[in-house]
Amino acid sequence: WIENTTPIEWRDTIRDAVLTWNTSFEKAGFKNALEVKVQPDDADWDAGDINYNVLRWTSSPKPPFGGYGPALANPLTGEILGSDIMLEFVFMKNRWIYDTLFTQGTMSHGETTHTGELNCSLGHEIQQNLMLAKGLASGGKIEDKEMLRQGLTQLVLHEVGHTLGLNHNMKSSILWDEKEVHDKNKTQGIVTGSVMDYAPANIAPIGVQQGDIFQTKPGPYDDWAINYGYSVALEDEAAEQARLEKILARSSEHALAFGNDADDMRAPGRHIDPRVMIGDLSSNPAAYGADRMALINKLFTELKDKATVKGESYQQLVTSANSLFGQYRAQAGVVSRQIGGVYVERAVVGDANADKPFTPVSLKRQTQAMDILAKFVFAPDVLQNMQPLY
Ligand SMILES: [Zn+2]
Repeated sequence: WIENTTPIEWRDTIRDAVLTWNTSFEKAGFKNALEVKVQPDDADWDAGDINYNVLRWTSSPKPPFGGYGPALANPLTGEILGSDIMLEFVFMKNRWIYDTLFTQGTMSHGETTHTGELNCSLGHEIQQNLMLAKGLASGGKIEDKEMLRQGLTQLVLHEVGHTLGLNHNMKSSILWDEKEVHDKNKTQGIVTGSVMDYAPANIAPIGVQQGDIFQTKPGPYDDWAINYGYSVALEDEAAEQARLEKILARSSEHALAFGNDADDMRAPGRHIDPRVMIGDLSSNPAAYGADRMALINKLFTELKDKATVKGESYQQLVTSANSLFGQYRAQAGVVSRQIGGVYVERAVVGDANADKPFTPVSLKRQTQAMDILAKFVFAPDVLQNMQPLY
């Protein structure tokens, strides 16, 4: 159900996003597995009633995130009994707490350990990326509304994913290489292997045509996970075991890569596999990050003119500069993880297709990362384009 407090102009986007999950269920043998209705204005039931699974639309004074999707499971069987999704007004339109988000919010990502769906902060991530995307797209090619539509779609897909029982997949962003990921003909709405990642807004680098900004369909990993969790079991126990093992045997496929919060490198000193990371994109995340940092450098030269309006305060300039700098910083973090990194595989003994449990990041990739940091982080002229702002 979509709560009757939801703005009318966003209801179709929310409904369509939820229904997109049906493509995964169709592959697992179910038609119309998910249905979405709008709570009538004169409904005699409350949106908090456990008998109804509701996409709430809320406007909290101090929202923790832009969206979260808690589910209540039977502790004995794991069966999900009820679930709701909170979508915060702050996600779509919120100028008055930009500052708070960009100072306290951004920093907290590196300092807190968060696990589990109750603390999902994708809404927060996407909101920042939406602001970035707005800044980046002020050339006019991408319309705000389309960007917001894609952003909201990705948020709903992700939060519904939690309510279906999926946890985060911070490794799925390695699906495409750093060039393919900008090619709409290839991605077709699937930017990462799973909607359960925390990928950045996929903004085209300088000189490249804009592709899909956000994920708007479940990815191959999501199809696979739904197939495992929801497809109908066989009556015969041994046959069922064999059927499940056949599904699991695909775990070494590139498109099905999986790594969750337990292994991610979001904070320095946490874990060793740089592919399991938030805010990164493509199978060459350092190259992707360098492209983004080059773009941000260019945008800083134009920012003062674009973000200041005669008679208005400097707030837009501060907000935009913080947004761009935050993204620059995040990409520097992504690049840094390559150095000393070790790829980890969790495949079981006997999986013929699996790589070795531990493989150091290649010397070439580590050198590349160091070169990028030398140029974009440690050089004397780093972020010189920010200077004229002050
Ligand atoms: Zn989440």
